[in-house]
Amino acid sequence: MRKHTPKTAITFRLITLVLLLPFLASAQRYEFTHDDTLRGTITPERAWWDLAFYHLTVRVQPTDSTLSGSTLIRYRVLKPGQTMQVDLQRPLKVMRVEQDGQSLAVRQDGNAYFVTLTKPQKVGQTESITVFYGGKPRVAKRPPWDGGLVWSRDKSGNWFIATACQGLGASAWWPCKDHMYDEPDSMAISVTVPEDLTDVSNGRLRRVTTNNDHTRTFDWYVVNPINNYGVNLNIGRYEHWSETYTGEKGPLALNYYALPEHVDSARTQFKQVPKMLKAFEHWFGPYPFYEDGYKLVETPYLGMEHQSSVTYGNRFRNGYLGRDLSRTGWGLLWDFIIVHESGHEWFANNITYKDVADMWIHESFTNYSECLFTEYYYGKDAGAQYVIGCRANIRNDRPIIGIYNVNHEGSSDMYYKGGNMLHTIRQLVDNDAKWRQILRGLNKTFYHKTVTSAQIEQYMSQQSGVNLKPVFDQYLRDSKIPVLEYRPVAGGFQYRWVNCVNEFAMPVKLCLGESGPYVKVQPTSQWKTVSAKNETLLTVDANYYVLSKLVP
Ligand SMILES: [Zn+2]
Repeated sequence: MRKHTPKTAITFRLITLVLLLPFLASAQRYEFTHDDTLRGTITPERAWWDLAFYHLTVRVQPTDSTLSGSTLIRYRVLKPGQTMQVDLQRPLKVMRVEQDGQSLAVRQDGNAYFVTLTKPQKVGQTESITVFYGGKPRVAKRPPWDGGLVWSRDKSGNWFIATACQGLGASAWWPCKDHMYDEPDSMAISVTVPEDLTDVSNGRLRRVTTNNDHTRTFDWYVVNPINNYGVNLNIGRYEHWSETYTGEKGPLALNYYALPEHVDSARTQFKQVPKMLKAFEHWFGPYPFYEDGYKLVETPYLGMEHQSSVTYGNRFRNGYLGRDLSRTGWGLLWDFIIVHESGHEWFANNITYKDVADMWIHESFTNYSECLFTEYYYGKDAGAQYVIGCRANIRNDRPIIGIYNVNHEGSSDMYYKGGNMLHTIRQLVDNDAKWRQILRGLNKTFYHKTVTSAQIEQYMSQQSGVNLKPVFDQYLRDSKIPVLEYRPVAGGFQYRWVNCVNEFAMPVKLCLGESGPYVKVQPTSQWKTVSAKNETLLTVDANYYVLSKLVP
């Protein structure tokens, strides 16, 4: 998902600029709370056990907007430990925790609960606890950005309910180990709802049980590792249809869910799904969750990359709510939410950050997936125009990488600037077959894994044969954009990099004269000279996200 609409981004930029003007050169200070540390750190009470399986059982009661249920957590003991951290955000409450039928002592510390296990936890053993909980969960204020539970209604007055918890955390609505580094190998989700409603969660629907209290229970099962915020509930009077896509790994079940009032528009708009899969399997390799199928589910909010259950609220129109974020026209030829949120199946759900500070791994690649989708169907120039067009949304306010261990995201530049960084790196690789191999290789090497930025950076440097470290440092860890200074001299031009990190010596392609010749040069912070016969004009190839400046 993207964090801000461009309008918000601009307003925010102005406000930020005014407020921060006197301090722009000094470091920005953040204040983090004890809750942030408990959320964002792999605490000792988390580190000793490894998630194997979750069974979330939840009853959703719209009439009083409550949830009640339990999470069974199965885990492997990695090292000695008797105290376990489980997260659940206020105002929900943990009622009781059990191991082998015995109630355990629990100490609440804000949104974390520390459970004292009485049974000795032997290294190598698999154990489980069950956490019972309930209450009124936080109501989403502005989903999906400010999330929680969305209690809404369709046009006929039926309940239309969803969860959205990216950033906020899954512990806003169910008890879990709410840190991204650890994922269960599989998960069961059992959701009980009023009998006239349907729940769509992740993975495959195994059974629907009609209960004698006018409710139904939907049992979903995910056979792959799943990240916390990827788990979701979508509840409404859905209509459902399906088809089979023949992809790189064979038949893939596509299931679609929309409200009756939108089913005609949805049937037309969702035809873009096989097109999206074709382009992304080409660039990134097989869809990463064949066993769990792919679903596109209508929601009362804009959309989110829920794993194997992408959610959709883009009003069945192309673009981003009908707008083109690149302002080039290319973004109006496809549905932003279908393309972007599904792109996250590769970069977010397949390859997942360990720490939210490295969220660029999700958003930069997925922003770039929009360019690659455009390129696949409309040509390489179209794709390049799209990603370059998105530069107008870049703020360069602070680094893309956030602060580790305190649940802190970096700048929203992780979207457009991150995409442009990748497009720039592609110019350095200068070999489209190799570039595609790197993108596919990332998805194969880090298949179903949680990773750090360093792992992704090293892989890309190794596979490309280019030392990308200064490039990543420049674009991810600094907010400055390199400027190529140049000046005419007898027989050519002098050029150098300024406004950049140490060791920044990124090669760049120059156009001498109106339309060439093109030359590739490797500027450093020292002046170098390129010869140019009669040309008086120098421009930098627009595919590189850098600035240039004629100096005396
Ligand atoms: Zn996104």
